[in-house]
Amino acid sequence: MAVQTVAGNDTTASPDLGPAAALSCRECGERFELGPLFACASCFGPLEVAYDLPTGSPEELRKRIEAGPDNIWRYAPLLPVPADVADKPNLNPGFTKLVKADNLARELGVTGGLYVKDDSGNPTHSFKDRVVAIAVEAARAFGFTTLSCSSTGNLAGAVGAAAARAGLRSCVFIPHDLEQGKVVMAAVYGGELVGIEGNYDDVNRFCSELIGDPLGEGWGFVNVNLRPYYGEGSKTLAYEICEQLGWRLPDQIVIPIASGSQLTKIDKGLQELIRLGLVEDRPYKIFGAQAEGCSPVSAAFKAGHDVVRPQKPNTIAKSLAIGNPADGPYVLDIARRTGGAVEDVTDEQVVDAIKLLARTEGIFGETAGGVTLGVTKKLIEAGVIDPTLTTVVVNTGDGLKTLDAVSATSQATATIKPSLDAFRAAGLGTA
Ligand SMILES: *Cc1c(COP(=O)(O)O)cnc(C)c1O
Ligand SMILES: [Zn+2]
Repeated sequence: MAVQTVAGNDTTASPDLGPAAALSCRECGERFELGPLFACASCFGPLEVAYDLPTGSPEELRKRIEAGPDNIWRYAPLLPVPADVADKPNLNPGFTKLVKADNLARELGVTGGLYVKDDSGNPTHSFKDRVVAIAVEAARAFGFTTLSCSSTGNLAGAVGAAAARAGLRSCVFIPHDLEQGKVVMAAVYGGELVGIEGNYDDVNRFCSELIGDPLGEGWGFVNVNLRPYYGEGSKTLAYEICEQLGWRLPDQIVIPIASGSQLTKIDKGLQELIRLGLVEDRPYKIFGAQAEGCSPVSAAFKAGHDVVRPQKPNTIAKSLAIGNPADGPYVLDIARRTGGAVEDVTDEQVVDAIKLLARTEGIFGETAGGVTLGVTKKLIEAGVIDPTLTTVVVNTGDGLKTLDAVSATSQATATIKPSLDAFRAAGLGTA
């Protein structure tokens, strides 16, 4: 861990990001000092955080984690954050419910145990609070005073809220035609919100230009120049799932794909738990879920390709509508290495799955959740997901932000005068 000088003005000290030791290139392995870098200077490959992971027995580490706070900071020894992170102003996301979904399991014919990791329970109602919380620590460490991002909706809200709490300025960018719930959630925290006339891939390209321009100087873009740190937040989903299963790996996990960052980092988190001896080393399979109207990774998987051909998105699952996913090739590697798969479902199947989850388990997921459960159902029916094994479905966001997807088919059963006669006439009473 970096030693901080008491006087605090030593600009040569390396930033204190706890066990994070360096950035390393995922392609060529070259290492770089911790900083706001995202691409390898030699080969342009994506950079990721490399660690000096804790030593000591698994029992000690498990105890230390279990004694920590009920949020992602219980895993601070495995994250690029300073040791005193829990004392700083932040939204403390994580440790969301792992719901044993027995009703849903019965309906889908799953006998090996079916769980929903419900990340709608985060502070801004999506899993994005996890990644942003880590990016905020990197922004603080590197002295950025404005937080920014290109977003499909949920990220903008998570950045706005986290910046408000941390006392940072925020200016975030979204496609102009998002769901009202996403727009309001992104604006309400008081930062600047800019709608771009174009799709997410246009927004992302715009942000890449802004980073290189004086207009964006001193800005930390959580998913661009802070991306290596940001991505690490998704490892906490893997840690929590295993801890909540009693320090056990699930056999199968189904994860939605936008850029693919979350899926790759859940795999990284599982690998770390195995390496640290916190869970038994046994096989697990990772499945990726996309909407048919934006399925570049699924298309590549099914065609047996290693490269992902960009698509122009057209789906109600706007939070997953990234036509040119940065981590697509790594998702393909992981699905193939673990014996999993990548599949897609139609918008109609997305709506059906949202309602299936709500009807069976009382969980109202957003369209991304519908994609994930829809793909789970499809893969069970196809015999690809084994119903006799433990399966975890990740619900990454809250249905209240995507009401339009189900509003046409979710209305009052009847509207009546306030009288028993009227209720009787509607045929809804017991008698
Ligand atoms: C951003 C997002 C995802 C997936 O993100 P990746 O870019 O693949 O990490 C999944 N679900 C929801 C609701 C999201 O907002
Ligand atoms: Zn490289």
